[in-house]
Amino acid sequence: MTDPRKVAEGWQRLGTVLSSAGRPAPSEDGVFVNMPATRGSTVLFPTLDAMNRKGHQRYDHTSGYGAMGSPIQHELEKVIATVEGGTDCQLVGSGLAACTLPLLAFLGAGDHCLFSDNVYGPTRRFAETMLKRFGVEISYFPPMADRATLASFMRPNTKVVFAESPGSHTFEVQDVPMLADVAHEHGARLFLDNTWGFGIFAPFRHGVDVSIQALTKYPAGHSDVIAGAVTVAEAQSWHLLRDAAIQTGQVCGPDECWLTLRGLRTMGVRLAQQARSALLIAQWLKDQPQVMRVLHPALPDCPGHALWQRDFSGAGCLFGVVLKPGYTQQAMETMIESLHHFGIGASWGGYESLVLPSTGSIARSFPAPVGQGPGLRLQIGLENTDDLIADLKQALANLPDAA
Ligand SMILES: *Cc1c(COP(=O)(O)O)cnc(C)c1O
Repeated sequence: MTDPRKVAEGWQRLGTVLSSAGRPAPSEDGVFVNMPATRGSTVLFPTLDAMNRKGHQRYDHTSGYGAMGSPIQHELEKVIATVEGGTDCQLVGSGLAACTLPLLAFLGAGDHCLFSDNVYGPTRRFAETMLKRFGVEISYFPPMADRATLASFMRPNTKVVFAESPGSHTFEVQDVPMLADVAHEHGARLFLDNTWGFGIFAPFRHGVDVSIQALTKYPAGHSDVIAGAVTVAEAQSWHLLRDAAIQTGQVCGPDECWLTLRGLRTMGVRLAQQARSALLIAQWLKDQPQVMRVLHPALPDCPGHALWQRDFSGAGCLFGVVLKPGYTQQAMETMIESLHHFGIGASWGGYESLVLPSTGSIARSFPAPVGQGPGLRLQIGLENTDDLIADLKQALANLPDAA
């Protein structure tokens, strides 16, 4: 059984950097602890020459116009790059924009992009619609593919391998260093949607070239912000990414940046608590007679558990539950609606618990390695763990008998 301390370790270690990063330096005049949100479009200069010089600093996290970002956006970019372990970060208006922007930046007509089959649904829809329309070839690989299988999916024109670990809804933990090796051997870059692993999985130490974050989730943490980030670790990638951001008009509003920076200050303690609570609930659920399987990377039977142990310093607060096959989808939905402490709604990573069904809407090219029963997805918030378990207990007890 996984020790609850193991899922919280990495979050606790982040406390110091989260408290100090992105803070104004003290000055003789005195300075407020928190950076202000500067709202604006026009930036004024004393001369045309000064304005033109600013215009040439597009890669330097500074701005001569509001669409290039505001001071708090640039500061938050440095904080996210620090937590991810990269060199440069571009903030964008949503987590989904953080998935689509680097695809637009690094792919062109005639290129091939290979996605992991468990990828976030809207990313898959973007690939199937817009990328295909612009002449990009799209295909998928099974998320638990070994080296030889993955290599067999690579094509001479493969430019990007796009992974998500653990996967949306099915929680497979992938062998990211191996994916990076195979991608690089074939001259491709590895993109990772690292939203679940933010702060507890170091993408660039494991060979990733482009790391994607929905800041909407843990960093904002209060379900009051939509924002995204793309981080890279070398100059050529940064220039391609920054050019694409400017050309497509991607920015993140100053209030969203301010709220996200505020959320980050407490992300370590929030997530340490939420991760411990999520693990206790996952372990309790696993022993319930109505439950076939719990898909949580810290549980030994989760696909890729050994990779989670090897590569992660903690766990998130989102996991999947598969009920025994005898239950109907309808029975599972009734059970969901009988929960009192779990809100029904999209997203995760906030302070409050949420629940959603997780089958039916997911497109896959290969069978998911998770069994046949109806599934649900739980986001564990800051409520008392015992209250959440009592709530799940009464809801499971209300399930009609399996056929
Ligand atoms: C939520 C999510 C996104 C998209 O983030 P938004 O800010 O909601 O657009 C992308 N990837 C993953 C894995 C997510 O969970």
